Amino acid sequence: MHSIDNPNAPDAKTTIAEIKRWVDEFSTERDWGKFHLPKNLAMSIAIEAAEIMEHFQWLEPDATLSLEQRQQIGEEIADVLSYVLRLASVMGIDLASTLEAKMVKNAQKYPV
Ligand SMILES: [Mg+2]
Repeated sequence: MHSIDNPNAPDAKTTIAEIKRWVDEFSTERDWGKFHLPKNLAMSIAIEAAEIMEHFQWLEPDATLSLEQRQQIGEEIADVLSYVLRLASVMGIDLASTLEAKMVKNAQKYPV
């Protein structure tokens, strides 16, 4: 069962506001605000996205991933997400409404 279908999975119970707060508090406790300029965070998203790609670089398209590989990829996805959350937070961007509006735009651009 995918976590999206499981009502007991943390993803089903955790809000974007909560995970934004986790990342903001972690950053504030370490006084990293001075480093978290939008430019630096945007670059960090791309760098962490490349770390996801690195796991797939030489794999055959039908390769089966080991549990360890899946966990490592999950950690890189978490790195991307944490920088996305932090960038949105630093820039005062509301992710839910922004994503919703962008999906409306995408639906118009790519009709079913
Ligand atoms: Mg990483």
